Amino acid sequence: MADLAAETAVHNHGFDAERVKQDFPILNQQVNGHPLVYLDNAATTQKPQAVIDAISHYYQHDNSNVHRGAHSLADRATAKFEQARQRVAQFLNAPASRQILWTRGTTEGINLVASSWGGSNLNAGDRVLVSAMEHHSNIVPWQMVAEKTGATVEAIPVDDTGTLDLQAFSDMLDERVRMVSVNQVSNALGSINPIADIIRLAHEHGALVLIDGAQAIAHWPVDVQAMDCDFYVFSGHKLFGPTGIGVLYGREELLNAMPPYQGGGEMIETVSFDGTTYNQLPYKFEAGTPDIAGAIGLAAAIDYVDSLDRAAAAAHEHALLAYATEKAHEVPGLKLIGTATEKCAVLSFVLEGVHPSDLGMLLDQQGVAVRTGHHCAQPLMQQYGIPGTVRASFSFYNTFEDVDRLFAALDKARQLLT
Ligand code: PMP
Repeated sequence: MADLAAETAVHNHGFDAERVKQDFPILNQQVNGHPLVYLDNAATTQKPQAVIDAISHYYQHDNSNVHRGAHSLADRATAKFEQARQRVAQFLNAPASRQILWTRGTTEGINLVASSWGGSNLNAGDRVLVSAMEHHSNIVPWQMVAEKTGATVEAIPVDDTGTLDLQAFSDMLDERVRMVSVNQVSNALGSINPIADIIRLAHEHGALVLIDGAQAIAHWPVDVQAMDCDFYVFSGHKLFGPTGIGVLYGREELLNAMPPYQGGGEMIETVSFDGTTYNQLPYKFEAGTPDIAGAIGLAAAIDYVDSLDRAAAAAHEHALLAYATEKAHEVPGLKLIGTATEKCAVLSFVLEGVHPSDLGMLLDQQGVAVRTGHHCAQPLMQQYGIPGTVRASFSFYNTFEDVDRLFAALDKARQLLT
């Protein structure tokens, strides 16, 4: 380990990433003849044994449909499913678990708000602000509802370092801005957005705020009441939980006033051909059989995360990023994309004369998994004038040795490609 790594290791409160890594069985394998180095955590995180066990225990012992059964398995499944909702509410410090709606993930959460709240509140001339570094899932749903309502979707500028321009944002605000929807952390760059200022300024102008927490939720504790956001969304699979489950938190009076997003079983109170009445929160927004095992798996993931020293885990991730950034500066022809002062867990870069996907392939051949491409942030790539980047993204189970392996593999690839 290099001097810098040794030094930062001392300063990271002794977080034992090597030990934590052992909780994740998938990480203990060879890929293309090399021990796997998994650096694609922004795309999805791996699952600890505790999550795998919780899902498999559910299917082996408790599987049943929820809320409408008249037997013991249905009671057990329902109890576990609703306990999972309470676990999420506690994790986010939501005032009540009925404000926690299950979704398929971040994408569905944003679509739900855009379609239900936007469809019933936006009018011609209203404005929705998103940042220039949003994931497509926080752009397109707003464009879709804007097309129907005559509202407009505008981008808050981001400078060349990947920092959101707070002054420009403040200047954009007026009484026609009804919604501000931004990510807490950019998946393409790792920039941490000043959401406290964004929320305060938006509220001062009477706009609501949705925070896309997809890239933040795994990295530090979130308190939706302290944050004072109106909606918060994230995906279970980015928090060491299963795919197919996500969470939408919303302020109760907003959720109560919003029309259902989908119709079907569970979301109704009574149905007749003369008229249908809707169920209360949260069920009004949960038509059909939910992802029961997913919710239970997500609760197990939250238990796992909370069993760690989160401050130490965050310090460790920060040290990994600092170490990787330092090493990146030494690589000839490497240009970092995203150099904001406040960054989290993402090292995005291009190598002069090399297509990101060629580089990604050569890294994979050496057992190093990264993501290449536009990272579902095409407007941002257009701003930088590049087709995409190579993105290494870290989690607390990554080690300084993983970073060394990335740069050793990069060195080899560079010699082959340049
Ligand atoms: N927003 C951000 C910032 C993301 O990183 C992602 C996933 N890459 C999403 C939204 C979409 O998440 P999902 O595909 O889980 O719905």
